[in-house]
Formats: sequence, C-alpha cells, structure tokens
Amino acid sequence: MRAFQLVEWQKPAELREVPVPEPGPGQVLVKIGGAGACHSDLHILEMDKPPAGAKSFKLPVTLGHENAGWVEKLGPGATGFGKGDPVIVYGPWGCGLCMNCRMGMENYCQKPGGPTPGGLGPYDGGMAPYLLVPATRFLVPLGNLDPRDAAPLSDAALTSYHAIKRSLHLLGPGSTAAVIGAGGLGQMAIQILRALSTATIIVAVDTAADKLEVAKRMGADEALLSGDRAVQHVKDMTQGQGAEVVLDLVGVNKTLQMAAQMARVLGHLTIVGLGGGALPVNFFSPAKECSVTSPFWGSIPELMEVVSLAQAGKIKMLVEHFPLERAGEAYDLLHEGKIQGRAVITPAA
Ligand code: NAD
Ligand code: ZN
Repeated sequence: MRAFQLVEWQKPAELREVPVPEPGPGQVLVKIGGAGACHSDLHILEMDKPPAGAKSFKLPVTLGHENAGWVEKLGPGATGFGKGDPVIVYGPWGCGLCMNCRMGMENYCQKPGGPTPGGLGPYDGGMAPYLLVPATRFLVPLGNLDPRDAAPLSDAALTSYHAIKRSLHLLGPGSTAAVIGAGGLGQMAIQILRALSTATIIVAVDTAADKLEVAKRMGADEALLSGDRAVQHVKDMTQGQGAEVVLDLVGVNKTLQMAAQMARVLGHLTIVGLGGGALPVNFFSPAKECSVTSPFWGSIPELMEVVSLAQAGKIKMLVEHFPLERAGEAYDLLHEGKIQGRAVITPAA
C-alpha cells in the first residue's frame, strides 16, 4: 500500500510503498476512512530532530494521528469488534497498566517517555489505506457517524474538550471564555463551549478574517482580530475584569502575551498551541491566582463523550477531503492558512 511518510527531518513528506501490516495478538487493523491533517504535523515537518522528550520518535513514519475508519481485521485474541464496524481511533497510545492509563488518561501514560501515538513515531499513523492499532481499547464505536468526517473528533475535538472540561466550573452564567486561534481546534472549542457551558460570552480571536467568520457561524458571540484591541475589547465586555478562561490555541509570544492580559483574577490560562513562545509568570502577571496550564490531548472516556456530542449533532467539524495523493498539498494549504476548518485525507475514498 502507499503511505504518506516523513522520511528525513526537514524534507517534505512523501508517498512511499510499504507493506500492509498484519495484526498480531490483541491488535486490530483499521481501514482508514479519514486521517486529519493537524497543525502539530506542521510543527514536526519544521523540526530538525525529534521533539524534546520524545525519544522513541524515529523515522520513517507514516503521518496522521487523527484517525477514523472501519475495522478490517482482528489479530489473534482481539475481540469486541467485527469487520466493517465504524470506529474512531484514540491517539495517545499508553502502556495501559500505569495508574493514569487505568483511569483512561493514556495521554498521561507514566511509562518513561509517555504515550507513543501512531503517526508521531515510532508507530505509523493513518495516512495510508490501513492503520495498525495496538489494542482494541483504543477504538471507540462511531455508530451513525461517517469516519471520513469524524476523524477530527479524535484530536481537534478531544484536545479542545479536555482543555475546556477542566475549566467548566469557571464558566457559569455571566462568565466569558476567549479562544485564541479559530482553526481546527478553535472551531471545535467554540462549539464545545456552547454545548457544555453556560458562559455568557464566547470570544474568538484570530489573525484571519475568514476564520473569524467561521467562528461566528460556529457560535462565537464576538470575533476579534488578534492584537491589543482584542485585549481592550475583552476588558470592556467584562467590566475591566477579563475572561474567566482563555484558551491559547496558537502559543507564540504574541498570543501568550495577549492571553495573559485577557485572563482575570482566579481565571484559567490554558496553553494548547505548540507555537513555542514563552510566557513570563511573576507576581504581577498574569492576574492574581490565575492558573496557567498546558494540557496534552484527552482521555479515552472523554473521546467517548466527544463522540456522543457529535452523534447528538452538537459539534461538527468543517471538513475538506483530500485523496491520499494530495496529502502534501493539504499540508501546504494548512501552512498557508487556506484550510477553513480541517483537511482530512481519505485513503479509502
Ligand atoms: P490550525 O492551523 O487549524 O489553526 C490555527 C489558527 O490560529 C489559524 O486559524 C490561524 O489563523 C490562527 N493564528 C495564527 N497566528 C495567530 C495569532 N497570532 N493570533 C490569533 N490567531 C492566530 O491549527 P490547529 O490544528 O487547530 O492547531 C492549533 C495548535 O494546537 C497547533 O499549535 C497544534 O500543534 C496544537 N495542538 C496541540 C495539542 C495538544 O494536545 N496540546 C493537540 C493538537 C494540536
Ligand atoms: Zn494533533
């Protein structure tokens, strides 16, 4: 089969011929309906070595860590699913045995080096007709959802969901949530805030006017161009207090600075974007007792909740499909800011 692989650091990823994997004991082979092109892959494509702390990241690797499809073949001893079942794949593959994994939080697997997601090395991802999944516990049934559209639920939605859920107690009536970066994750975050919280004002902030348009369609009350005026606007809307929760889905110096100015006393400033910026934290900034945190992905139970939300029609990704041959182009468009929602590669189309 052909797979879209990163072969050498700082070289464009390419289509290569690889064998179809054979599922071993307990493993599952999934026929890929959709593999989302996440901005994290762009960060990886720019790196000249494996990300710090990811010692197991080895090349070549098939990209695609946001996957959904249909069960193709169960390895010996694997049970609970049948051929053709539509499933979404939980991405951060942990050991399954440590305390965090046993609580379903394999994103925080305690084994040395943490979880080893497919598509983020050494294991292959879903930008190929078939994906080898190491255990059936990483599959969540999709029911009536089409894997080609549902794939972004496993990262864009799950990551946003997890980041929001931990702050829900701050988002009661009268409260404000600000989402910086209204791309794949941000558009999901806005819909999840709408679905889960009773926040009175949901603010989207982006540098691109078209993303702000989409954000409004998805439920943002205010859509603001990134910059000092956005900070002032949030202050004005909140009687000078700032937002209870600020999600920075970009994470560069400029957005972190903006987030720090937008977040209120006792608020949450949540850094999800891997932009590599640094946020100075001292007695004077961010606001008093504002917690700063940097969540990674989400848990298996949270993925089940995200799928339920999508099945109920509460969240829906704006998806643009690309055949496998056009995967490189999809990433180029994402890099240029020309993907409106999420680009999803459809190897089985
Ligand atoms: P995306 O490219 O779809 O969206 C990014 C958005 O940010 C775009 O709309 C862009 O216009 C906007 N933007 C860029 N610069 C900005 C600025 N200065 N101010 C305001 N908006 C700005 O990306 P995505 O796939 O949604 O990913 C977003 C970030 O989240 C990436 O850094 C990605 O690596 C990261 N991510 C983190 C996790 C995690 O677990 N922490 C998981 C997935 C993705
Ligand atoms: Zn991702």
